[in-house]
Amino acid sequence: AIIKKNRAVKRNPRIILFSPRGRKFDQVIAKNLSKEKHLILICGRYEGIDERLSELLLAEELSIGDYILTGGELPAMVVTDAVTRLLKGALGNIESAEAESFEKNLLEHPHYTRPADFMGKKIPKVLLSGDHNKIAAWRKLESARITKIRRQDLLKGFKS
Ligand code: SAM
Repeated sequence: AIIKKNRAVKRNPRIILFSPRGRKFDQVIAKNLSKEKHLILICGRYEGIDERLSELLLAEELSIGDYILTGGELPAMVVTDAVTRLLKGALGNIESAEAESFEKNLLEHPHYTRPADFMGKKIPKVLLSGDHNKIAAWRKLESARITKIRRQDLLKGFKS
């Protein structure tokens, strides 16, 4: 009760507790957390955290995947990185975050750089055309194609 009272006074920061039993961390959660002013991240060790503390803190349990790490420090770094890069000013170009994998439930299209011909492997012609509409259409199609091959599960939540 004392902890709950203090949380109310201190603007109620969300408390994340890392555990393999938690909800699986993903981009939707990262976006949601990026809107918070304060976050408290709790890292377990050994068998984890006493259940009563988790209940008293009203902690949200998060897992970063179905495997067991030694401690919660790496999950905390993963979440910190994924969340802070969504904060205003973190990325040079906001579009770079908006076009990334998991936006609209799709994986990202492939990227190419110079030279146009590398060891006989050529950049798709359309990308050299300078036609922005055609390039955008190609990227959309590629995103959908790759997602279908690699992550059919994402397409269930696909928003066109
Ligand atoms: N006995 C726990 C179980 O079987 O669920 C595993 C404890 S693990 C050895 C020690 C700590 O590492 C956990 O309390 C948690 O903070 C962190 N940890 C390990 N794997 C994790 C994962 N996949 N996601 C988030 N945290 C993890």
